[in-house]
Amino acid sequence: MKLYLRILAYIKPYWAHLLGSLVCILFFTLFNSVLTLSVIPFLNTIFSQEQQTPPAAAAEIQAAASPSTPAAGRWLQAKEQMKEWVYDRLIGRDRHRALQRLCLLIVMLFFLKSVFDYLQAYFMAFVEQGVIRDIRNDLYSHINRLSLDFYHRTRAGQIISRITNDVTLVNSSISAGFVTLIKNPLMLIAALILAVTLSWRLTLVAFLVAPFSMAIIGWIGVRLRRESTISQERMADLTSTLQETVSGVRVVKAFAMENFEIRKFAGETDRYFRSLLKITRTRNLSSPLTEFLAAGVAVGILWFGGRQVLEGQMLAPEEFIGFLLIVFSMMQPIKELSSVHNRIQEGLAAAERIFHVLDQKPTVQNRAHPIPVNDFASCIAFEQVSFGYHRDRLVLKDISLQISKGECLAIVGPSGGGKSTLVDLVPRFYDPQKGRITLDGLDLRDLELSHLRRLMGIVTQETILFNDSVLRNIAYGLEDKTLEEVMEAANVANAHDFISQLPQGYETNIGERGVTLSGGQRQRIAIARAVLKNPPILILDEATSALDTESEILVQQAIERLMKHRTSFVIAHRLSTVLNADRIIVIDHGAVVEQGRHDELVQAGGLYQKLYTMQFHT
Ligand code: ATP
Repeated sequence: MKLYLRILAYIKPYWAHLLGSLVCILFFTLFNSVLTLSVIPFLNTIFSQEQQTPPAAAAEIQAAASPSTPAAGRWLQAKEQMKEWVYDRLIGRDRHRALQRLCLLIVMLFFLKSVFDYLQAYFMAFVEQGVIRDIRNDLYSHINRLSLDFYHRTRAGQIISRITNDVTLVNSSISAGFVTLIKNPLMLIAALILAVTLSWRLTLVAFLVAPFSMAIIGWIGVRLRRESTISQERMADLTSTLQETVSGVRVVKAFAMENFEIRKFAGETDRYFRSLLKITRTRNLSSPLTEFLAAGVAVGILWFGGRQVLEGQMLAPEEFIGFLLIVFSMMQPIKELSSVHNRIQEGLAAAERIFHVLDQKPTVQNRAHPIPVNDFASCIAFEQVSFGYHRDRLVLKDISLQISKGECLAIVGPSGGGKSTLVDLVPRFYDPQKGRITLDGLDLRDLELSHLRRLMGIVTQETILFNDSVLRNIAYGLEDKTLEEVMEAANVANAHDFISQLPQGYETNIGERGVTLSGGQRQRIAIARAVLKNPPILILDEATSALDTESEILVQQAIERLMKHRTSFVIAHRLSTVLNADRIIVIDHGAVVEQGRHDELVQAGGLYQKLYTMQFHT
């Protein structure tokens, strides 16, 4: 129920269009019913031998004279008067003129019915597409706000699948759902009223089988919901593999793993294929089943109604045919209703997955009334900080550390020791589980998060560039910067020369993730981005992959210029960095095991000395 209410909350802003659609549906139903009914006078006009009140009506009048209850008598009388009015006034007793009038009436009714159908479809499309747009935007902005731990828990393919496939499923479920759920019941009610008016006994026969068919349809719906969830998970697997191989194509090729990846992908498409087949089997079962049940109803009516006509009881032949048409006109809405239930179940399963993501709370967020910060004045301090990605396994243990403004702190240590984790705590990508980190004496958790991050520039090993121009990549998040400022930053980062030689200079599109640039060029663009941002604090993860000597020198120069006059945390991989650093800390198994300047640490003959011989001493 909560799920329905949440979807309804998305529909609420579109109430005017929804109302418009409802009104159109009402008119559509009205004209459609009159159209179905018009067959009775039509048949009567063509086939009756003389102009008179239909024989069955005469029988009914007789019956009305001795009705079982006074109310039934009044009802039959009213029905008769209505018939009289239609035959006398509206159609006329002259058969030729009546035919003309009836044809004209049918054309008019068709036209009006179509106009309202069209308008209803337009209003409804507005609602559906609007809702889908809103859900998609909400989902996207929500996952953008979620903390990094969400991305570590959730595969990229799964996230993409939520925003693309699941939202589309909700869309098809709303589109199938609302129109069919409003229009078809209305049409059914209208048809039911007409059917009961013509013969309540026959209507009763027709509906004997309804509860049975509803139970079957319900059972199919539950199965479909379960199968749809499995199928969407398979789709997420598929998207994940696709995304991994496309972004890791170099590794795949380098290890000659193309055939392995192709087989893996084929395995996943096959699993998806099977899950879809299962859904199709279940979904398509409901249609023939409903049809079979309907055929049973039809035979019942033919037998029971046919006998009434043959025995001249209560029902004129044209009324019997009209009744049959009305009952058959109910088939389509019932059939659609049966499949709409299934579609809604699929959509609900998708909505559940979407809301599951929307319900995730960012683990790192602003406190109520966070403190604004605009500058960094004196020092950053780690006070007995412990942190683990999982509660039971600490990655950083009881770290105490202070870094003063303007200091360059080089962080070294064996792989997996916790260097990246340590620097990730500074921009609050994660919060410590114990202890606190302060900036100028204030706990980071009390500061306005966006202000804190504005104070920091981050250059990581993997340079992330977007599929956009060089200019917009350098000025990412800094729309107010002029071209001159961007060029100046590129100059500092040793990037201006190669950018100027690109086909459209700063306007050149660098392609998704910067594939058209060399490794060194990408790094220099990332450095230019940090230079332009001009933050007081720098977090640098030096690339381990070796560049050619010329490129290496250019990148090194750029980094040195970037670090000048700033406070920097550098995960160091280059000898020059450790030599120039004000202080080096050695992190091993999540603890600071040594700290000092290069010479002191080499002389101490500990872990640093070993690392230095292996890593830096080339
Ligand atoms: P390297 O030099 O190889 O990059 P590092 O010193 O930077 O290593 P970290 O990346 O900080 O080390 O990792 C420290 C520990 O935390 C490792 O044992 C690693 O497996 C674990 N770890 C890192 N990221 C996550 C994560 N997102 N979820 C769970 N564990 C993680």
